[in-house]
Amino acid sequence: VQAVFRSDLSHLLELMGSGKESLIFMKKRIRRLTAQWALAAQRLARKLGGVQRDQKQILVHIGFLTEESGDVFSPRVLKGGPLGEMVQWADILTVLYVLGHSLRITVSLKELQSNLGVPPGRGNCPLTVPLPFDLIYTDYHGLQQMKQHMGLSFRKYRCRIRVIDTFGTEPAYNHEEYATLHGYRTNWGYWNLNPKQFMTMFPHTPDNSFMGFVSEELNETEKQAIRSGKAGDMAVVYGKDASIWKGKEKFLGILSKHMEIHGTVYYESQRPPEVPAFVKNHGLLPQPEFQQLLRKAKLFIGFGFPYEGPAPLEAIANGCVFLQPRFSPPHSSLNHEFFRGKPTSREVFSQHPYAENFIGKPHVWTVDYNNSEEFEAAIKAIMRTQVDPYLPYEYTCEGMLERIHAYIQYQDFCAAPGPAPPGPQAPQSPFVLAPNATHLEWARNSSWAPGAWPPVRSLRAWLAAAGRACTDACLDRGLVCEPSFFPLLNSQDAFQRLRVPCESTESEMSHLYPAFAQPGQECLLQREPLLFSCAGSSTKYRRLCPCRDFRKGQVALCQDCL
Ligand code: UDP
Repeated sequence: VQAVFRSDLSHLLELMGSGKESLIFMKKRIRRLTAQWALAAQRLARKLGGVQRDQKQILVHIGFLTEESGDVFSPRVLKGGPLGEMVQWADILTVLYVLGHSLRITVSLKELQSNLGVPPGRGNCPLTVPLPFDLIYTDYHGLQQMKQHMGLSFRKYRCRIRVIDTFGTEPAYNHEEYATLHGYRTNWGYWNLNPKQFMTMFPHTPDNSFMGFVSEELNETEKQAIRSGKAGDMAVVYGKDASIWKGKEKFLGILSKHMEIHGTVYYESQRPPEVPAFVKNHGLLPQPEFQQLLRKAKLFIGFGFPYEGPAPLEAIANGCVFLQPRFSPPHSSLNHEFFRGKPTSREVFSQHPYAENFIGKPHVWTVDYNNSEEFEAAIKAIMRTQVDPYLPYEYTCEGMLERIHAYIQYQDFCAAPGPAPPGPQAPQSPFVLAPNATHLEWARNSSWAPGAWPPVRSLRAWLAAAGRACTDACLDRGLVCEPSFFPLLNSQDAFQRLRVPCESTESEMSHLYPAFAQPGQECLLQREPLLFSCAGSSTKYRRLCPCRDFRKGQVALCQDCL
């Protein structure tokens, strides 16, 4: 059956069931954005032309909403609890539905079991029951539940699972044996999935797939209205929880000299004591009213928490400047409670690294808050700058539809692994050394890996400097690391073509391999495909890095990816 784009979302709303506050929040959002999704679907359909798309049978099991995992979020929705997750799930459901796939949605263990065809209480039976779904989208809670209740089918079908994982899971934490041996074991990791099966909220590490969410887009009339309607001296503070205001008196004092400060902090009956009297606190607002507030404000200001949520993108899309603290030293699972135990070693250099690195000035200012002069100077400068609303393409409805379409069409983690890389004596290497001899390119006449996605002609391979992760080494060159190219690169031939002087070659398990160890002039190949990792570095090694190009505003896709 062919998938046909849908623009009427009423059936999706029915599929979602009702009752929980979290579902009510998501359904309101879906209803509000219906027209935007419909327009985006039209545009994407035109762009894709007549491409054949199969309709997939998809199960979406939102584990964190099940009573069995405690459903800690639903009661907190009305108190401003993590709405970012709700925003993302609402958008994921909409994308899958708009793309025309057949959906089942479950938010309880019972529904999950009946959809999987597992008789209740028979979770551990040795039978493998045929799975009636091509794809399953879930989260870490849901993954745990499936493992417990699918018996042997879990192993057999886990390649069909996609895990929505806000902060990401790096390969070193995903591989059970390796994580256990090398101290990467956490409460979340070691599922031995293909790291690309984990889907993140922002493009953190290319080892995972970037799922994202959307922010509302403005048309020209709305943009014009914003330009004339802005109050140049109005600031909104990022954060719905009173705790983020604690100890921020100094900044609030400086800010209040220049601007009128607004907040959207949840409260029960009285003003939370952390919020000073000179702040106009609106309480937690319904999403559309929050957007209206942002339209009037000039500045959206972060005080360091929450990390990497949707709100700064919404603020920037509504014409605000986002001011945020730089973290020095960076926050990570090694030094910060919030990231402790999360399956990533990523270092976070500001409250919202995506805003800093992918958007930047004039929309985003990242400054050292410990330096009061720098902080005050930034506020004054921001008040003088004129900015237009801005939304990166990957966070528009069309951008998200395009990206998820590409994943569904081309990502296949159930297929047998591709061809092994050629040996040194192979008649023709798939690589050529680039004319300036700095990196490898894919030989145009090579017949290797014909069906690979992303297509291998976008491959550019570099030997990174010692201590540099592939993630950064690729970005340094205006490219992005592409882990699916690692297997092709994991060969003596690649080192040879790059004219790396290998004294010897070993093959071992390490998330840093393939790499060249300068002491000993040793070339090191990767023995475990699950450990290929863009993230990770050591001063001992120069890593061999597969990079590729990307579309402007859509980092998940290469130029030739569609
Ligand atoms: N939001 C809201 N009312 C408010 C403040 C924020 O509905 O008063 C919404 C906002 O539009 C955003 C969502 O809450 O989409 C999540 O915001 P945030 O970035 O704070 O992420 P979280 O920490 O909740 O995951």
